[in-house]
Amino acid sequence: MRKPILIGNWKMNGSLQANQALMVRVLPRLRMFRKSIDLAVCPPHPYLFQVRDLLGYTGIMLGAQNASGFVSGAYTGEVSATMLQEMGCRYVLVGHSERRSLFGESYHEVAARYRSVLGAGLTPVLCVGETLEQRDSGRTDLVIEQQLQAVIDEVGLAAMANGVIAYEPVWAIGTGKTATPEQVSAVHQQIRQFVAKSAPEASDDISQELRVIYGGSVKAANAFELFSLADVDGGLIGGASLHADEFGTIAGAL
Ligand code: PGA
Repeated sequence: MRKPILIGNWKMNGSLQANQALMVRVLPRLRMFRKSIDLAVCPPHPYLFQVRDLLGYTGIMLGAQNASGFVSGAYTGEVSATMLQEMGCRYVLVGHSERRSLFGESYHEVAARYRSVLGAGLTPVLCVGETLEQRDSGRTDLVIEQQLQAVIDEVGLAAMANGVIAYEPVWAIGTGKTATPEQVSAVHQQIRQFVAKSAPEASDDISQELRVIYGGSVKAANAFELFSLADVDGGLIGGASLHADEFGTIAGAL
């Protein structure tokens, strides 16, 4: 049985004061779900320490939005996975589409970052997804398989079994457009089939254990429908994770 997981991605939002206010309002709404689902929030790096304290012993976990593919050294501006581990992180987003498109993270770089996260004993949340142009030209499957394959080539499929995959169609992120349940189902099934095909000897175990979550304009109004789909094991929530009522309702939909 795959335990559902809900992750809030705050992106580059927040302040000491705003984080505190959000946590005070959101934690009571989340606490009741913490036994049945894994819950995590990913603040910007400078606030990890603050949010770790605010989370305290609630059982809600801390995540980061990215980690370096390097272990340590002369990499100005980078933050290593070991540092994140030391700050109390449990999850790290890897290959978010904003990182890929705005900051030029290549398949290879994303795979290196994935490896570092695993190396620090953290759980990578690998984001994959197609642009609208790729979808319209019938390349959704191909793009997602390439994104997965780059990581499989780097760490091997067995190492991915404990990770999380987030399907996030780029055209649905922050746009208010959500993929239809049919579109989400089709891609989630495709991801599981691709994983099964990649490791025929261990196919059942890995593809059935792997958690595949959906992200892209998930809100209270559509969460129930999306989370009721058989292959959807949770959500990666951007904008709506900054609103306590909304995020609480989304958690209740899982
Ligand atoms: P959104 O972002 O929920 O604001 O669309 C999702 C994400 O980028 O992870």
